[in-house]
Amino acid sequence: MFEYHKPLKVVEADYPKITRPDQVIVRIKGAGVCHTDLHIQEGMWHEKTNVRLPYTPGHENAGTIEEVGEGVEGFKKNDPVILHPAVTDGTCRACRAGEDMHCENLGFPGLDRDGGFAEFVVTSVRSLVRADGLDLTEIAPLADAGLTAIRAVKKAATNSYPGAFIGVVGVGGLGHIAIQLLRHMSNASIIAVDIVESKLKLAEQFGAHYVVDAKKDAVKSILEITKGKGVNAIIDFVGTQATHDTCYKSLRKGGKFVIVGYGGMINARSIDMIASELTVEGSLVGNYLELADLVELARQGKVRVVTNKYPLDRVNEVLESLKGGGLMGRAVLTP
Ligand SMILES: [Zn+2]
Repeated sequence: MFEYHKPLKVVEADYPKITRPDQVIVRIKGAGVCHTDLHIQEGMWHEKTNVRLPYTPGHENAGTIEEVGEGVEGFKKNDPVILHPAVTDGTCRACRAGEDMHCENLGFPGLDRDGGFAEFVVTSVRSLVRADGLDLTEIAPLADAGLTAIRAVKKAATNSYPGAFIGVVGVGGLGHIAIQLLRHMSNASIIAVDIVESKLKLAEQFGAHYVVDAKKDAVKSILEITKGKGVNAIIDFVGTQATHDTCYKSLRKGGKFVIVGYGGMINARSIDMIASELTVEGSLVGNYLELADLVELARQGKVRVVTNKYPLDRVNEVLESLKGGGLMGRAVLTP
């Protein structure tokens, strides 16, 4: 990325250098393309990351070990791995608690330093999850799309019981994984919401019990399905003002709204929040163990990512289709 609001360029870059003993260079086999990459291109993350241009995006990476720093044990060249997207210090309180995303010294290849839209990426041994026996191109999206989905699903599933309803708004790269996870991690009936008919079909295929076409009145449809009570929990994977409003208005008493997609404002009257004891909770990517659990679910065949593979030089085309909302599942670049 040379300039914000401009297409990316594929250029020859230098082979990266290991500068710390715990670092690892990974040869990328698959790098998922995320909606956040569009926001990065729009410059939305600049003030948070202060990254210096040009740099290489790509934070959803899987590949094989190419080279390890002198302090790295337990991994060797050609080992297959998927990368937790954060690079963390391992010593702060958040790291000790296992909450990688809250690390006081968080790095994020693809956001604040060179990422995986390249042949090689540098990460730390702490971020590696073994991926033996898995197709690295297929599972790359678990590193962010899947990881974000499993954390949000865990938050929603605490409000689940037999006969409960959980809504999933947006059946894209994250939503289609969330539906599969909800089948394994909750006993709720799943209501999938989208505006694209083919995505609603995909939702049914992956186990949604009900689908709602959000081109019509989604809140009304959800209330009809839940006999006027609303959902016990709902996850917003889209993050527009319209989806935020739909989610909030679809909650039943004691309901929980989990925010993943971002961009809008939450319009919540405090009197309604206390009268119905509502919870609104943000969810950010996921921690190391959540990724390890997800990789195990993939190994057991319980989670499958719908992927479309593209060579690196088609990255701009992929970003354009993502912007248009026309991609099914997740696009993966294969450098
Ligand atoms: Zn830390």
